[in-house]
Amino acid sequence: MSFSSPFRLGARSYVFDAPKKALAKAGGLLNCEPQMAVLIVGSVALDSIKTQTEEHPDLLGGSASYAAVSASFFQPVDLVGIVGSDFPQHHLDLFRERQIDLTGLQIVEGKTFRWSGEYEADMNKRRTLHTELNVFETFSPKLPPAYRSASVILLGNIGPELQNHVLDQSERPDFVVADTMDLWITIARPELIKLLGRIDLLVLNDGEARQLTEEENLIKAAKRILDLGPKYVAIKKGEHGCLLLSRTEFFSCGAYPLEEVKDPTGAGDTFAGGFAGYLASLDRSGFNFTDLKRAVVHGTILASFCVESFSLYRLTRLTKGELQDRYSRFRDMSHYEGGTLA
Ligand code: AMP
Repeated sequence: MSFSSPFRLGARSYVFDAPKKALAKAGGLLNCEPQMAVLIVGSVALDSIKTQTEEHPDLLGGSASYAAVSASFFQPVDLVGIVGSDFPQHHLDLFRERQIDLTGLQIVEGKTFRWSGEYEADMNKRRTLHTELNVFETFSPKLPPAYRSASVILLGNIGPELQNHVLDQSERPDFVVADTMDLWITIARPELIKLLGRIDLLVLNDGEARQLTEEENLIKAAKRILDLGPKYVAIKKGEHGCLLLSRTEFFSCGAYPLEEVKDPTGAGDTFAGGFAGYLASLDRSGFNFTDLKRAVVHGTILASFCVESFSLYRLTRLTKGELQDRYSRFRDMSHYEGGTLA
């Protein structure tokens, strides 16, 4: 896994390698390569979360918040979303500190989107208590000119009509990942089907894959989803990991084993953000299945940190050393020598 240290200049970021840095320090030519930010659109929210043991109001949440912070471990991020005038300044500071560009974040008079949920003892089971759209009700995502040429786009979980609207404004991206949820499958199926014809990879959980396709078997469900347009589908199975499929290839990735999960909120968004951020960091067009498998593992490792705390607390304190260490452990625990069946 490679970690670079990008810095931003306007809407684009630049990364130096060590000799170039030394050259710049020595007063030589400022010779650096532009680094394309990953474009992330989604919700930015204030969440209230209840588990069997703890309850926390007004936490930083939203699909774009989790995804952007996760992706920022690998690549600068251009964020598109909306918040109200009540959105705390320190959350904005947190994004900026992480190379997340906020030119595309609309800050408007009114209240930020709010969501509350409650987990059962089995944390795979969650109930939405309230959804207050607030400023989201009138949200129309608008890409600043510098965002339009993004080559990797993550359409985080928001209505598929808004996701389609983002694609209408972008200029021929190389790879588009979209996330969705049960709500949109129920109330916005035609828009979602339209979106599926325009994206490269759909990320959704097992229940949503079954709901979308009315197919109980996940392999059959994945094939039905591929028939609707995307080249790839990633089906998340909570603590049981994730499946990645194309028409001809298959990858099964376990989840990183954890003894304690504090709050699974945002794990899916964190997974998608890590996936997209890793792909963008490869800094080339055209990704093969091996790239996508690695992206799944990067997303999986980021998500395992997300669930160790409420909100983005653990992710924002995560060091690259800890991330590297867990990546190596996961590789060792998932690997076995080839050979043949005894
Ligand atoms: P996840 O746990 O990955 O499903 O994502 C949870 C996040 O999704 C929370 O932080 C919520 O703020 C956000 N969220 C919940 N419902 C919606 C919705 N209808 N549209 C957009 N974001 C939502």
